[in-house]
Amino acid sequence: MSCSFDLDHYRELLENARKGGYRFAPFDGHAPEQGELFLRHDVDLSLPAALEMAALEADLGARATYLLMTESVFYNLASPEGVSALARLREFGHAVGHHPVYPNVVLDERFDRIVAWHNPDPAVMSEPVVGAVNAYAEPYFSPERYRSDSNQRWRSGCPHEELRAGAFPWLQLLVHPAIWVYPGATMGETMRAMLDSERERRLQQLAADNIDLS
Ligand SMILES: [Zn+2]
Ligand SMILES: [Zn+2]
Repeated sequence: MSCSFDLDHYRELLENARKGGYRFAPFDGHAPEQGELFLRHDVDLSLPAALEMAALEADLGARATYLLMTESVFYNLASPEGVSALARLREFGHAVGHHPVYPNVVLDERFDRIVAWHNPDPAVMSEPVVGAVNAYAEPYFSPERYRSDSNQRWRSGCPHEELRAGAFPWLQLLVHPAIWVYPGATMGETMRAMLDSERERRLQQLAADNIDLS
C-alpha cells in the first residue's frame, strides 16, 4: 500500500479504520470511548474538494466533521456556492462546525457547536471556547491520539496500518480535503493543480456574473 495523498489511499484509510473496528464519532461533548474515530476536516482552501471528499465518505458510510471558515481568503461561505456547499455537507450526513481565525468564533445557526482554530498559536489553541467544543482541547485532543496530514506530511506517519490493527484506543484524525483531491507528487504540484481547476471554475463564475469573456 503506497501512502500517496489521493482519494484511492484515502478510501483505504477509511476501509482500514472499519477493519480495525473503529466507529465514526461526533465531537458532541461526550468523552471519547474505546474504538471511536473523530474524523475532522479543516476546509482551508476549497469547497469543491470538501464536497468531493464528503461524497466519497457518504458512499462508504463514514461520518465526518467539516469545519468551515468565515474568514477564508479562498472562498466565501456567504456566497451561493458557500451556502449550497454547507447544505450538501449536511445532506451527506456530516457535522458542520466553524474553523475560525483566532479569536473570531462564529456560533450562528449554520454551525454545530464545534470549533478548531485555523493556524493556531500553540499558546492559545487549547483554551476553552465558550459555547462550543474545541477540537484542540480536552477531551478530544491528546498528542498520541491525534494525526494530521498538514502540508502532505504525517508527523507521526500515515496511520493506515495502525488503524487496520486497531492500535489506537481512539483517534482524532485531521484531514485537509484539497491536498487529497487534487493530483500532484508534492504539495506544490497539488496546489498548482488546484489553481488550474479554480481557473475553470472562476471562468464559469465570471460568465454567470454577466462578464463578457469574448
Ligand atoms: Zn498510508
Ligand atoms: Zn486551517
